[in-house]
Amino acid sequence: MTVDNLSQLLKEKLTSSFGKSLEEATTKEVFQSICLIMKDSIHPNWQMTQQTYDENESKQVYYFSMEFLLGRMIETNLLNMGLLDVYKETLTSLEFNPEEVFKEEHDAGLGNGGLGRLAACFLDSLASLQLPGYGMGIRYKYGLFQQKVVNGYQVELPDYWLEDEYMWETKRNDKAIEVRFGGTVETTTINGELHFQHHDYERVLAIPYDVPIVGYDNSTVNTLRLWSAESTTNHFHFHSSRGHDYYHYLDYKRSIEKISEFLYPDDSYYEGKILRLKQQYFLVSAGLQSIMQKYKKRNKPLQELSKHVVIQINDTHPSLVVPELMRILLDDERLGWDEAWAITQETVAYTNHTTLSEALEKWPEDMIETLFPRLYQIIYEINERFCKMLWFDYPELREKIPEMAILAYGQIHMAHLAMVGSFSINGVAKLHTSILKDRVMKPFHIVYPDRFNNKTNGITHRRWLLNANPGLAHIITEAIGTDWIKKPEQLVSILPYATDPAFQDLVARVKHENKQNLATYIKQHYNLTIDDEAIVDVHIKRLHGYKRQLLNLFHIIHLYNTCLENPSIKMTPRIFIFGAKAAPGYTFAKQVIKLTNAVAEKINHHPTVSKHLKVLFLENYQVTLAEKIIPAADVSEQISTASKEASGTGNMKLMMNGALTIGTQDGANVEIGEYVGNDNIFTFGITSEEVFQYQMRGDYRARDYYNDDRRLRNVMDLLVNQHFSGDDVDFKDIFYSLLYNNDEYFVLRDFDSYLSSQQRVDQCYQNQRDWLQKSIVNIGHSGAFSSDRTIREYAEEIWKIQPTTVPTHPIL
Ligand SMILES: *Cc1c(COP(=O)(O)O)cnc(C)c1O
Repeated sequence: MTVDNLSQLLKEKLTSSFGKSLEEATTKEVFQSICLIMKDSIHPNWQMTQQTYDENESKQVYYFSMEFLLGRMIETNLLNMGLLDVYKETLTSLEFNPEEVFKEEHDAGLGNGGLGRLAACFLDSLASLQLPGYGMGIRYKYGLFQQKVVNGYQVELPDYWLEDEYMWETKRNDKAIEVRFGGTVETTTINGELHFQHHDYERVLAIPYDVPIVGYDNSTVNTLRLWSAESTTNHFHFHSSRGHDYYHYLDYKRSIEKISEFLYPDDSYYEGKILRLKQQYFLVSAGLQSIMQKYKKRNKPLQELSKHVVIQINDTHPSLVVPELMRILLDDERLGWDEAWAITQETVAYTNHTTLSEALEKWPEDMIETLFPRLYQIIYEINERFCKMLWFDYPELREKIPEMAILAYGQIHMAHLAMVGSFSINGVAKLHTSILKDRVMKPFHIVYPDRFNNKTNGITHRRWLLNANPGLAHIITEAIGTDWIKKPEQLVSILPYATDPAFQDLVARVKHENKQNLATYIKQHYNLTIDDEAIVDVHIKRLHGYKRQLLNLFHIIHLYNTCLENPSIKMTPRIFIFGAKAAPGYTFAKQVIKLTNAVAEKINHHPTVSKHLKVLFLENYQVTLAEKIIPAADVSEQISTASKEASGTGNMKLMMNGALTIGTQDGANVEIGEYVGNDNIFTFGITSEEVFQYQMRGDYRARDYYNDDRRLRNVMDLLVNQHFSGDDVDFKDIFYSLLYNNDEYFVLRDFDSYLSSQQRVDQCYQNQRDWLQKSIVNIGHSGAFSSDRTIREYAEEIWKIQPTTVPTHPIL
């Protein structure tokens, strides 16, 4: 493909699709035409890939996830197709700014945070490693809300990402599935066999919209299938002439379409909303039925299902796959219980993402019974058999049966259902997996020791380095060649350059350019000028108590106090950047946003303090914004309360872009520390062991830290004397949560240790050679955190799937 070819194609596409010449076309039309041209070359490979999988009878993995946080696809698709440069050149030669054209794509924000982004990174790695993998998700009409900051407060606006057509999706009416809700189950005996008949249920049509997932430098194009709920007129009888039925129909239609209307904006939090439960079953039932339809075309016995299909569930959200697969095998396929159960257990694998009790799903029994009467019977039976097995085979666990049961005290424990019904249970970082085994899921580990395994999360280095930070990617390639792009672990080859001043200078220059880009964005959108020489310190992730944005703020307020006490203090200038959405109902989190903005207002306008410090809350943190911030970052804040962050992936993106981590010994920080060594990470704070000890003994006294540390008192008192706010607001709720609710997240406990660690950051940054060396060491070890490594481990150790080469499609 040359610039000339492509210019010609673009002109033709503008004419055929919009009836416009290049001169008349809007940026949006240019964007859409480009997507259409891309699809012309993606779709033949897509078809070829699916055909190859079918012909080879490849075993396929289906990744079920309520969230896929894709962000924009145009650039990564072009990158993976090897066409990014020629497209950019062509646009530039035609006097379009590529960046402006790419901006026409609305982020697909079908996820909250790390869990959804992980699913998206996994899709990229599956296709790039030529692995037969599908994503199964929901096509929410509204993605995660758009965040605005008004007067310092978060305001949520709907994210209507489908306003312009979504260019990558293809609607597949022919693959529609019927999903059934509610009704009653009638049990009859025919020839001595039990039959279960489902009556009076509500029918919902699940329509798949398929999105192609393009592999890097290969012909593989996998599928992300997103299901949309639609109503059907088929069985709706219009009788009366008075319009009655018509209004009734409209009500019905609205109630159906609600199912895939919006993504619940809660992250690491479970809310027992009936609509959310419907969404989960909708995904599970539509996804499973479509898998079974496809499997049957292979003409293989059901007993061999697990040789062809493996289902990975991303957290417990899709754990109704266990009873739904049982239902299909028992009722539709007429298998016996034992056979059906063996097949189900061999086919399903479960990833745990959290140990936070407020995030563990427990649905009221009666809700499940009303919505899915047949599944309820099956869950009941699974539970009976599981508890009996415990009683007879594990006498030492008898007294633990009530806490291990799937169904107990009127609630259904989805994690228990997922663990009992699957052959693999994995955590997402070493520490997290050992906490699962030794503490949170300990009795299950006794029963199923072989099911537990670890798969440390990863990120796609193609999006997060190659595409987000082309300057850095370029100097890496100049130094060590291009092998690292397909084999990210080879990034270690830059380690010898860590002490090379010439290479350090290149890294410094790229970082500086990236900071200037970010500074331009900040100037444009926030009218704030930031010093090029300042340390860029970033804390970007969902707003949550356990992620401790508050601890970061306390350090900032402490620095502010220090500057006020000693105006001539020497301090490396720093800009503290926050990006975080709070769940709309999470009052504490929203107050932390307000506090951040109030502190920013005070500091940024202070005549002397603002020379040293700037604080900025960037609104609407999402994938596209992350791609802007991360390449410019020097310091990565990963300061969760030890034991609470299962893995973290923001930490990986930042290290890959040369930021140094200041972090607790939590999640994947621990492994990052093992790779880079203690000298190349700033570790602080109490350990997960200490957190558990405090919780067991119940002897943490937050107030002691407030009383004993003058610096901390000086920070906290500013929250309640209206220093940062007008008369109408203050932050006493935050203050009280720390002192009267005893600081659940140990902010006060870690304050001193965090401050010392931040001082080390400051000192270290003053020695630029030393800093750059550490930065390069981090980049060099980041290949271990590529999702290619993670996906290889899943493929080999859990899924048992093999790469399948798709023949190259002749390019026309
Ligand atoms: C990577 C990512 C996250 C996860 O960040 P953590 O620091 O691991 O919580 C959340 N949101 C977006 C948009 C991301 O890209």
